[in-house]
Amino acid sequence: MNRRSGMTDMRINGDRLWAALMELAQIGATAKGGVKRLALTDLDKQGRDLVVGWARDAGMSITIDQIGNVFMRRDGTNNALPPVMTGSHIDTQPTGGKFDGNYGVLAGLEVVRTLNDLQIKTEAPIEVAFWTNEEGSRFVPVMMGSGVFCGAFSLETAYAAKDTEGKTVGEELARIGYKGDQVPGDHPIGAYFETHIEQGPVLEDADKVIGVVPAVMGLSWYDCVVNGMEAHAGPTPMGLRKDALQVSTKIMQEVVAIANRYPPYGRGTVGMVQVFPNSRNVIPGEVKFSIDLRNVNDELLNTMHEEMLAFIEKTRVETGLAISIERVSYYPPCPFHPECVDAVRSATAKLGYSTMDVVSGAGHDAIYAARLAPAGMIFVPCKDGISHNEIEDAKSEHLEAGCNVLLHAMLERARIV
Ligand SMILES: [Zn+2]
Repeated sequence: MNRRSGMTDMRINGDRLWAALMELAQIGATAKGGVKRLALTDLDKQGRDLVVGWARDAGMSITIDQIGNVFMRRDGTNNALPPVMTGSHIDTQPTGGKFDGNYGVLAGLEVVRTLNDLQIKTEAPIEVAFWTNEEGSRFVPVMMGSGVFCGAFSLETAYAAKDTEGKTVGEELARIGYKGDQVPGDHPIGAYFETHIEQGPVLEDADKVIGVVPAVMGLSWYDCVVNGMEAHAGPTPMGLRKDALQVSTKIMQEVVAIANRYPPYGRGTVGMVQVFPNSRNVIPGEVKFSIDLRNVNDELLNTMHEEMLAFIEKTRVETGLAISIERVSYYPPCPFHPECVDAVRSATAKLGYSTMDVVSGAGHDAIYAARLAPAGMIFVPCKDGISHNEIEDAKSEHLEAGCNVLLHAMLERARIV
């Protein structure tokens, strides 16, 4: 077997990958078949210990940084080169699934196990990372470990974050034994790949196996408050009302209309609404609601932002009601590196999987990794596009295909010797 055909024929072990996923999913398993393994809990520690144990068994060395990010390393022949890294997270939502995050980490481990089986050496080292508190469910902000790693916010800010019981990230990291020594970010990355279930319905709908991810959408989050006047629903004539809910619904309709004006990647969502006093026979006096705008193009996202502000101003003038709008979060779109996107695309073509480009609408650790190194992502379908749900499901053959693409994309960057 010559070197070239050997490379093309190389495949990971899909059954072993599936078995690892199912074993990790036992830790925090829920009655409905999902997983509840919140960041920095005892269960998170058990999950971390299991994965780290597997990595040691595979001959990997372990480094832990001060925010609890774990880097599991397989040496290359030239260890002066920065590692080709893959990874994701193993914390879950309170009603999470078996695959979100866990797949990205265990696919990396499976790549290493495969290289070990085949006794393949790479020039650059290979590393598999799991990042602390990606989900942001127990502690905010989300994508905490990778965010500290790339300097998006400070270690002190992260340590001070509290859960609902007042426990801090700093205390909990120390308690579970994952407060490491390495300064976050003091760890070179040559290239970063992340495999993930799509968490949306596009691949399944198009009957494709591999999503090549050119970019992640940017997002803007807002809190909007409309103030009217509470009054009795009977005696107050229609023309003399200041109905905060009716005015709010005009804005909510416009949020969706704005998104529809910027296809295919415009998104507009009102997901949270509070009506006061929320009484059947009282005209609503105040309504608070969230607005979530997304697009993959920052200029268009900004245009959507401007159009929304203009509509709110127009509505304020027309109705005479007080309306406040505050932007509470903003992430710019994250285009992935052309070389990493191409590595995923050519690996997919070489392996013969059906494929399409899928822009990610959800956040991932790869966004922060992309600030420090060339990065790319690989998506596989998940059933009905559902994640952050105990019924989250994915097919073994799709997970295997994504892991094969990961193997070949990483080898292109790390180079076989
Ligand atoms: Zn995830």
